[in-house]
Amino acid sequence: MMSHIEPGVFVRHDPQAQPAPVIFDSPHSGAEYPADFRYACPFNLLRQAEDAHVDELFDAAPRMGATLIAALFPRSYIDVNRGIEDIDQQLLDQPWPGPVSTSDRARVGMGLVRRVCKPGVALYDRRLSVAEIRNRIDRYYRPYHEAVANAIIEAGGRFGAVWHVNCHSMPSSRGARVAVAGWERADFVLGDRDGTTCSLGFRLLVQGILEQLGYDVRINDPYKGVELVRRFGQPNLGRHSLQIEVNRRLYMNEETLEKTDGFDRLKGDMDTLCSAITAYARDQLTAAAAD
Ligand SMILES: [Zn+2]
Repeated sequence: MMSHIEPGVFVRHDPQAQPAPVIFDSPHSGAEYPADFRYACPFNLLRQAEDAHVDELFDAAPRMGATLIAALFPRSYIDVNRGIEDIDQQLLDQPWPGPVSTSDRARVGMGLVRRVCKPGVALYDRRLSVAEIRNRIDRYYRPYHEAVANAIIEAGGRFGAVWHVNCHSMPSSRGARVAVAGWERADFVLGDRDGTTCSLGFRLLVQGILEQLGYDVRINDPYKGVELVRRFGQPNLGRHSLQIEVNRRLYMNEETLEKTDGFDRLKGDMDTLCSAITAYARDQLTAAAAD
């Protein structure tokens, strides 16, 4: 299998069939904890931030002709699905010297570098230095973004259009200790930032396949898509980015991250989805060529 690994940072699996203009990326499934992380919260709680096994759920993509890129570091170390200026000043031991654009997520400790492991649980017992955050940006965040950008730009240039699928998993409920009606999440949430990051046709294709497979699907509720689809989704330039959130209850124990019996069925269905997406992309190119 053709692949390229940047140790500890990302792995890129290249197409093993005739290449299609499709890029999958899994930014949050990494579980190689860097030695300089120096977190202070319980490791089992920290690991619950991972989108565990999502890289494996979509690993059929290269066999269909797509590229698959997966982060190897954990999202709790630095989150590539946040803006690079989404700095949480409360976490730092001195003022950030560059531009800062703090999001609501960073204000509650869930920005580019998290301050909390989960609400009410501090991730560190110290403040972080500017040099520490800089190192995470330069050695992890930027190389990951560059890998995805290069794959998208290369495929877009070669084929004239490209479809990018940004793959995640979500907790089954909003953290309520007791199940409350309406707090259970759908099986899948598709995010196109309210119709701005991909064509309607592409979103409907993915939605239709998932519904045919028997899943309930919600659109932009509660996840609209964040930095990666925002950055790469430019449908007017032929670049289509869609975020997929898979409900963790479909495939794993959300506390231990162990796969459940549901994993194999879901994996088979994601193989079907990968196949349908690459076929769709090839069809779109053929249709465009015939115009
Ligand atoms: Zn995620």
